[in-house]
Amino acid sequence: MYSSTLYSRKNSECMILGISTDFVFSSFLVLQFCWFYPGSTLLCDVLDNVNMALVTKRKPWLGGNWKSNGTKVQVQKLVDQLNSFKFNIEKLDVVIFPTFIHLHLTSALTSQGYAIGTQSCSATKSGAYTGEISTEAIKDLEIGTTLIGHSERRQYYGETDDVVAKKLKIALENSLCAVVCIGETLQEREESKTTEVLHRQIDAIRDCPLSAQSVVIAYEPVWAIGSGKVATPEQAQEAHQTIRHYLKEKVSAEFAENVRIVYGGSVNAGNADCLIALEDVDGFLVGGASLKPEFGTIIQSVASAS
Ligand code: PEP
Repeated sequence: MYSSTLYSRKNSECMILGISTDFVFSSFLVLQFCWFYPGSTLLCDVLDNVNMALVTKRKPWLGGNWKSNGTKVQVQKLVDQLNSFKFNIEKLDVVIFPTFIHLHLTSALTSQGYAIGTQSCSATKSGAYTGEISTEAIKDLEIGTTLIGHSERRQYYGETDDVVAKKLKIALENSLCAVVCIGETLQEREESKTTEVLHRQIDAIRDCPLSAQSVVIAYEPVWAIGSGKVATPEQAQEAHQTIRHYLKEKVSAEFAENVRIVYGGSVNAGNADCLIALEDVDGFLVGGASLKPEFGTIIQSVASAS
C-alpha cells in the first residue's frame, strides 16, 4: 500500500541554499493558481502545504539503549568503540543510555559528539521516595535526556499509560528531553489493534507540554524488541504515518511535522539503510546492536540519510 511513496521524500529532496526543490515546485504551482483563481479559499490549503514543505527537515536521531548491561570494564570498551566512530553532530543527534550507575563513567569517557540519557526517571519529585531517581537529580548531573515508557518498563515493572504521562510531565517540567516509547504487542497486532493501541498511548500524553525540541517519539513494536524480528518497511512506515497523522489531529500540525519519530526493534547494520529511507522514520532506538561494533555502521546509515 505504501511502497510507491515509501522513499519519495528523502530521495527527491535536494536542498539548495536551504530551499528544497519541493518548495520551489510548490511555489510555482501556487503562483499559477493565484493567477487563475484569485481569492479562492483553496488557496489557503495550498499555502498551508507549501508552509509544510518549508519546515520538513527533521534532524535524524539515534539512541543506543544499553539496557541493564555492563560492568566498568565493558563500559570502558563500549566507550572506546563509540569514540572511534565519526559523525557530524550538526547533522545527527546520538544519545547513549547506559544504566544509572554507569552514567557518570560513560559521560566522563565519551567524546563530545555523544549525549547521555537515562533509561527511565521517577514519576515523583525529589523526596521520601526510596530507590527512585528524580528528574531533578538527573538534571543536576547535567544529563539532558530520558527514555520514558520503554516496553520493558511497561511489561515488567507495571508502567501504565498514566505513569508514563506523569513521568513525561515531570521530565519536561525539569527541562529534560524525553524519548517516549510506544508500540503494540504481537497479540495486539494480530488482533488488528495496532492503530487503537498507538492512539491510546498518544492520548495518554497529549496534554503534556509537547514540543518537537524536547520530545522524540519511539515507535517500538513490542514483538520486535530483542527478538531479531524487525518490522517490514511497510509496517514501520504505516505505523509512523499513523502516529504522525494522529499527532497532527490531536496535538498540532506544527508538532506532528517537526517531531522526530524513530523506529526501534531489532535494528542492525543489515536493515538500517532500508528503514532510514522511509518517509516518516527519523532515526532509531537501538538495543542489542548498540552493544556491538555494528553500531558504527548504523550511525553511518542514519548520518548519510540526513
Ligand atoms: C530497545 O531496547 O529499545 C530495542 C529496540 O532493543 P533491540 O534493538 O535489541 O530490539
